[in-house]
Amino acid sequence: MNHDPLTSPDTCAVHGGVDNYQFRPVVPPIYATSTFSFESAAQGEALFAGKHEGYIYSRLGNPTVGALEKCVAELERGHKAFACSSGMAAIQTTLFALLEAGDHLICSEAVYGSTSTLIESIMGNLGIESTFVDTSDLNTVRRAMRPNTKVVYVETPGNPTLVITDIQGISEVAHEGGAQVVVDNTFMSPILQQPLLCGADIVVHSMTKFLNGHADVVAGAIIVKDEVMYAQFRKVLNQLGGVLGPFEAFLVHRGIKTLAIRMERHCESAIKVALFLADHPAVEWVRYPGLKSHPQYELGRKQMSGAGGLISFGLRGELVAGREMMNALRLCTLAVSLGGVETLIQHPATMTHASMGRESRKRAQITDGLVRLSVGIENVDEIIADLAQALDKASQPTPTAKAMKAHPAPRTECVGSKLL
Ligand SMILES: *Cc1c(COP(=O)(O)O)cnc(C)c1O
Repeated sequence: MNHDPLTSPDTCAVHGGVDNYQFRPVVPPIYATSTFSFESAAQGEALFAGKHEGYIYSRLGNPTVGALEKCVAELERGHKAFACSSGMAAIQTTLFALLEAGDHLICSEAVYGSTSTLIESIMGNLGIESTFVDTSDLNTVRRAMRPNTKVVYVETPGNPTLVITDIQGISEVAHEGGAQVVVDNTFMSPILQQPLLCGADIVVHSMTKFLNGHADVVAGAIIVKDEVMYAQFRKVLNQLGGVLGPFEAFLVHRGIKTLAIRMERHCESAIKVALFLADHPAVEWVRYPGLKSHPQYELGRKQMSGAGGLISFGLRGELVAGREMMNALRLCTLAVSLGGVETLIQHPATMTHASMGRESRKRAQITDGLVRLSVGIENVDEIIADLAQALDKASQPTPTAKAMKAHPAPRTECVGSKLL
């Protein structure tokens, strides 16, 4: 390492994990190899016994992947990191490393749809109990703690309602009860939030999103605090096998170099878009951590250094109007995923969170009218102009929208409809 590991995240993002390679390349090369030859039988034996540092086989470690892992560990102020084949592989590896049959887990209600399904269905079938609670309410978390609670799993801001959990507060509650705290930091990236510094024990990422940032890779990461935990997780990942390949690792590491400036732009543009939406007559409510109307606005200011690029909102015409608006967009792309340079829009109830089922969505306050917007780095005036023309189209009441207005369905409104 040729820089102080505690340099600013902006500098870590550019120099992190770039080390001494043969021929001194400025960028770590792609080691496209599944296996590494031993100098001698004795060296092979020493490598397997852990007496020698070095590479054996790419599921157990690869230099290109290792460079990315170092960079991500530095960014999150962790001890070491693992790059995984997807965010879900990172989450699955983490849960398998920390839990066994008979254990109990507490999870945020507002989490990524597949995380919720993994915990409820797959982990549940393996005998791991779970309770989903509103983790923004520490008393609820305290009440949900049981003697066998081993993990408190938090996503903050939560997907897609953007509810914020107090990481320091929840870490204290969990640690009192002997549980460890896992934070999914995908929505913020380590530029805007560093959960380990707030007391969390493990951070996971879908690097598919902001870290890579260019919507061309699926990847995940786990960041741990100490060597004991590293060894425990290494064993599990080696056997489960959800590792990242060197080509993807190269792309993610390349993407991270612009992470700090991309996050700055995402934040700058998203607040402008959020203010535009909040002011628009067709928009019923807007949820963005940078708006004072966000219920945990103050907490967000305390633990996040920016409000991020994600906005949730609902239209007055509910789902029908939301669909019309999404279909009328020209610049903003109708697609799931988030955190890329391009602005993406999607409908959680029928897309990312469809697999959760209606009951779980209701519990997590994901209403049918909720639309999720990931603000990209395009010219913000052009993003707003596109939304404006689409909203104008959607607010022309069509026969269905008119019928819905005449007989409005009873609403279980989740988010403050009071705007800025
Ligand atoms: C996308 C996402 C995941 C899952 O990551 P994949 O890379 O798609 O497997 C997990 N958590 C959050 C918050 C996400 O946005």
